[in-house]
Amino acid sequence: MRTPGPDDKPTLLTDGLEGLQHNFLTGQLEDLVKWARQKSMWPATFGLACCAIEMMATGGAHYDLARYGMEVFRASPRQADLMIVAGRVSQKMAPVLRQIHDQMMEPKWVISMGVCASSGGMFNNYALVQGVDQVVPVDVYVPGCPPGPQTLMHGILTLYESIQTGELTRRREQTGAGAGITVAQHDGQAEPVAVGIPRPDRGHVTLLENS
Ligand code: SF4
Repeated sequence: MRTPGPDDKPTLLTDGLEGLQHNFLTGQLEDLVKWARQKSMWPATFGLACCAIEMMATGGAHYDLARYGMEVFRASPRQADLMIVAGRVSQKMAPVLRQIHDQMMEPKWVISMGVCASSGGMFNNYALVQGVDQVVPVDVYVPGCPPGPQTLMHGILTLYESIQTGELTRRREQTGAGAGITVAQHDGQAEPVAVGIPRPDRGHVTLLENS
């Protein structure tokens, strides 16, 4: 190999990174993948009850979910990686919900929107599932009846943070469990209060209802 002379221009081989003639950024491929995942999340269409009205409002022009790269609600689970369970889940709907979740591509995430989806809410009866985490792993619980768009967006951004740190993906790969994060309300509603019977076996779930 020829020894570089004093008149030779600096190159990557002779001067390392300082020898490059252009500015550039370096980063880890894993960080790039996590960034792309969080910035191109597409929700599956899964409105089940009144909470779905607020979910649809969140996708409208006023709140503009498009700025987070997720304005496209997909009717096909193959094209979606986020399930927002918006409303109470009936026993008849539970197997359908599970099937759609299974058909979504990995990695996929679940937000439980509203007190009914998270705990059955006021419907403590035989017809409704008492918490959608009995059917699918939940990553973020969004409280309220219904949660307003600000609260749902707070839940979505919380999910983004968990994906960006990699914590959520690691947990999924190791145990299959959701993150189980409960966010606070941000839409001016009254603070939620705990009602019903505490369930220590599901410590991350609080029965929430607006006072
Ligand atoms: S939490 Fe309230 S708004 Fe949402 S589905 Fe239940 S009753 Fe309807």
